[in-house]
Amino acid sequence: MGAFLHTVKVAHFKKTATFATKIMPTPKTVLIPMLQHIGKACTPTVKVGDTVLKGQLIGDSSEFMSAPIHASTSGKVIAVRDVLMASGVYAPAVEISADGLDTPIETKPIEVNTLEELVSAVRNLGIVGLGGAGFPTSIKLNPKNIDAIDTLIVNATECEPFITADHREILEDPDDIVEGIELLKKLMGISRVIIGIEENKPDAIKLMRKKAEGRFEVESLKSTYPQGAEKVIIYHCTRRRVMEGQLPADVGVVVLNVATLGNIVRGLRTGMPLTHKRVTVSGDCVKEPANVYAPIGARIDELVEFCGGYVKTPTKLIAGGPMMGKSLSNGRHPIIKSNNAVLAISDYLSFSPDPSPCIRCGRCLRACPLSLMPTVFEHAYEEGNFDLLEKQKVSICMECGCCAYVCPAKRPLVQINKLAKSALRSRKK
Ligand code: SF4
Ligand code: SF4
Repeated sequence: MGAFLHTVKVAHFKKTATFATKIMPTPKTVLIPMLQHIGKACTPTVKVGDTVLKGQLIGDSSEFMSAPIHASTSGKVIAVRDVLMASGVYAPAVEISADGLDTPIETKPIEVNTLEELVSAVRNLGIVGLGGAGFPTSIKLNPKNIDAIDTLIVNATECEPFITADHREILEDPDDIVEGIELLKKLMGISRVIIGIEENKPDAIKLMRKKAEGRFEVESLKSTYPQGAEKVIIYHCTRRRVMEGQLPADVGVVVLNVATLGNIVRGLRTGMPLTHKRVTVSGDCVKEPANVYAPIGARIDELVEFCGGYVKTPTKLIAGGPMMGKSLSNGRHPIIKSNNAVLAISDYLSFSPDPSPCIRCGRCLRACPLSLMPTVFEHAYEEGNFDLLEKQKVSICMECGCCAYVCPAKRPLVQINKLAKSALRSRKK
C-alpha cells in the first residue's frame, strides 16, 4: 500500500462556488417519493384529499434501514402513486398541490443530551446522507461498536465536477458545522475530528481553520477524484484501510457529509424536519447556473427554470455529478434528499466515442482506488465466469468510474462492472 490510493484528475467546472445560494419558491405541486434513502421505501401515511402542513410526516417505515419523509410545503394531497425513480426502480410517491402559504407544523427546538436522544431525533427529522449516498444518518451515528469509534471525518471534499453545494454549505453556514462537530464529539465520545476539504477550495479551508481553534483538524486533500469516497477519504485522513466486507466503523471511524451535519444542527435548532436542500444546478445548457435551496419534490425542470431555463436542449440530464450521478430520461423527475446536483449538459461535454478494442495499456488498473482489475472483470463477465468475478472481488467495485474515465479505448468498464455485480447478486439469491 502506497502513501495514497489511486485517484484521477478530472476537470472541475465549479463556477457556481462563488455564487450565494438562491432560495427557490415552492412550485404549484411537489412530488415526494417514499424512497429517498438506501433501504426500504416508506409507506405513505396520508391519502388523497388530506390537507398537510410543511414538515408534516407523510411517509414512514418500521424497517431498520429507512428514514421518514415529510411534506415540503402545505397543501392538499392530490395523488398517491408509483413513480419511476432515477435509480430505475418504482416507488410510491405523494403529490401535493401547494396552497401557496407554506404553513409549517408547530415545532420547537429539540434538546438532546445523550446519543440515544440524538439518534432518535435525527431519525425523526428524516435526515439521510445528503452528499449523494442517502444512507440513513441515524444508523450511521449509532454503530454497534460505538466504544471503538475514535474519529469523526466530516466529508467536505466534493470531488465530482460541477458540484459546489457542500462548498457553499461551508461558506454560508460554517458555525452550524462547528456546532455539529462539538455535539457529536460530546455525545459519541469522539476524541479526533477531521474535516477533509479538497485543496481547490482554499477559501473554505481558510475559514474552517480559523473556526477550528484547536478543536478539530482541517485536512487539505488533493483535488482528485474520488477523494470523497469513504474508503479513500478515510485512508487519506487516517491511513486506516477499510477492507473488503468492513464498514468505516470497523476501523474506528464515522464519516459524515458536511451538509448532513449542518442539517442535523438546523433540524435540532428549529425542530423542523428535512424539507428542503441545497442543490447545484449547472451544465452548459443552463442559462444561469447556481446553487438553489429547493423544496424536496420540486421537479428538475422547475429548478432549471428558476435558474433562467435551458439555453439549449440537453443531451444529458443528470441527477448528481457526471461521474457517479444517474442519467434521467426527462426533467419531470423530482428532487430527492440524496440529490446534490442537477446537470444539464450538451454533446459538447457529454460526447463519448464508440469503444474500440482494449490495447492493454493498463491505465484502468492504475486508476482504480481499490486496486481492482477492470479488464479481468470485462473478460470474466463476457465468458460468464462467475467464479473469477467473485475471486477478483467485483462486488467491492464502488462504481466510481475512474477506470472508464482514463481508458483510451473508451471501454464501458463501469457499466460492465455494474452488470457483473448484479449478475453475481442474482446468482446468489
Ligand atoms: S469503477 Fe470499480 S473497478 Fe473501476 S476504478 Fe472504480 S472501483 Fe475500480
Ligand atoms: S484502460 Fe482501456 S485500453 Fe487500457 S487496459 Fe484498460 S480497458 Fe484496456
